[in-house]
Amino acid sequence: MIGNSLGLQPVATRKLINEELDVWADRGVNGHFDHPLNRPWVSVDDNVLEQSARIVGAKSTSEVAIMNTLTSNLHFLLVSFYRPTPLRYKIIMEAKAFPSDFFAFASQTTFHGFDPKDAIIEVKPRDGEFTLRIEDIVDVIRKEGDKVALVLFSGVQYYTGQFFDLKRITEEGHAIGARVGFDLAHAAGNVPLQLHDWNVDFAAWCTYKYLNGGPGNIGGLFVHSKFDGEKFPRLAGWWGSDPATKFTMDNQFHGIPGAAGYRLSNPSVLAVTSLLGSLQTFEKTSMQELRERSLLLTGYLEHLLLELHKSKPHFKIITPSDPEQRGCQLSVLFEPGQMERVFEALLNRGIVCDERRPDVIRISPAPLYCTFEDVWKTVDGLKEVL
Ligand SMILES: *Cc1c(COP(=O)(O)O)cnc(C)c1O
Repeated sequence: MIGNSLGLQPVATRKLINEELDVWADRGVNGHFDHPLNRPWVSVDDNVLEQSARIVGAKSTSEVAIMNTLTSNLHFLLVSFYRPTPLRYKIIMEAKAFPSDFFAFASQTTFHGFDPKDAIIEVKPRDGEFTLRIEDIVDVIRKEGDKVALVLFSGVQYYTGQFFDLKRITEEGHAIGARVGFDLAHAAGNVPLQLHDWNVDFAAWCTYKYLNGGPGNIGGLFVHSKFDGEKFPRLAGWWGSDPATKFTMDNQFHGIPGAAGYRLSNPSVLAVTSLLGSLQTFEKTSMQELRERSLLLTGYLEHLLLELHKSKPHFKIITPSDPEQRGCQLSVLFEPGQMERVFEALLNRGIVCDERRPDVIRISPAPLYCTFEDVWKTVDGLKEVL
């Protein structure tokens, strides 16, 4: 029940990685260009672009790149998309965002000579509420208006499980002349996304949560094709330059149009191949099909929890009850001081959920592999524990 933290290992992954280890052992450096399985390392990431594009709703593979890791990709994107001026320098984000995101954005404002206390606007839930109302997000965006350089939310909030209205936030951000981006760590592989059609400027995600790419695996980024040909400032490396001249070594940078131009280094073949193992599984289905199953799984989890609540009212679900405003995760808030004991007792019964101090347990039936029986067993275990 913890696909939100680290997805399970796909069956295909071990075989694929062993194949690359064999090519490396047998052919050494020649694997870069001459690969017996037609996955030459020089373009190994080409093998994961199509499914990645499909999962995030990119129009074509040129809008996505598989590179670096999530927080570093956010930084590289902000080099292009956060270009503050003395009048327009603020970043609007949700309060209590994942700390790495806050650190990244705060350090970017500092880097540009602004004080994060002034430059970062955190949208908070109303008193007594846990999640954000879209009208409150919109109010803050409109109120800050032309002082805002960037609106940068998560897709699905890691703590509450709230799935934000990405399309609306994008429209509102654009209406005040700001750039709009998203951190999709908890959204990619969890909920259907239409980044291109929603006109999102940019996004980044990791591949080890719902995308099952393996611990600490490579990240992804999206840059909308409307920016093709735009001369953004960006940090460059040889992998972002035209492959035709990559080995000319003449120090002429010919930026690849689209997301691929953001790449700096040649990617880890083992990391990309590990992701390929998972994406071969996603290839057999679609985010729409997964979403249909996910609505049922999480709806069932909610139903069982609410039934249990009638006899054991020691917890509260803080994730929105509207299925449109959540992915697969339900965040369950316990009475003060109880959460860790509940978590440990569940773990002792072989039920692996996710604790977030001080008082929340996150239960995430990943639609790709969790079953209705898993959901039943989880709540049955919780009943016993309570
Ligand atoms: C998981 C997660 C991260 C982790 O960042 P890494 O750079 O991959 O270590 C960052 N932000 C959010 C919102 C996350 O959910």
